Amino acid sequence: MTYDDQNIFARILRNELPAIKVYEDDQVLAFMDIMPQAEGHTLVIPKSPAVTLLDLDPQEAAYTIQVVQKIAKAMEKALDVKGIVLMQLSGAAAGQTVPHVHFHLIPSSVHELGKHGVQMGDQDQIKVLADKIKAAL
Ligand code: 5GP
Repeated sequence: MTYDDQNIFARILRNELPAIKVYEDDQVLAFMDIMPQAEGHTLVIPKSPAVTLLDLDPQEAAYTIQVVQKIAKAMEKALDVKGIVLMQLSGAAAGQTVPHVHFHLIPSSVHELGKHGVQMGDQDQIKVLADKIKAAL
């Protein structure tokens, strides 16, 4: 799929837009979702320009999942987490709204979810949660 390098996450990766980051290395970035579906909702993205999981190089996918696991462990340690939903939407038909592959880590239950990216979170409160996750990494 053709990659739009002006998508929001590409702009965050180039530091053209702000994000509350929790982890970054040369291949992956993890940051807080701006419209969290639960407290601590975090996104993990590979830095390479892939639209969906299907476009992502398998080795990069494998490395991204390692980081997803690392962030999930930090979330479990830092927050009052009972369970974590790992969500990955591939394609607009699946509900994907940002065309850069990303993994959602949502401390919630599948039975609680449904409102996808509809309400802005309190960014100061999100920053506090991000600091806790960072400290647990
Ligand atoms: P998708 O629908 O593509 O699976 O998820 C996109 C996610 O990105 C949504 O949960 C939405 O809240 C989040 N999002 C959209 N724009 C921004 C932004 O500018 N910054 C951050 N941090 N998250 C965003």
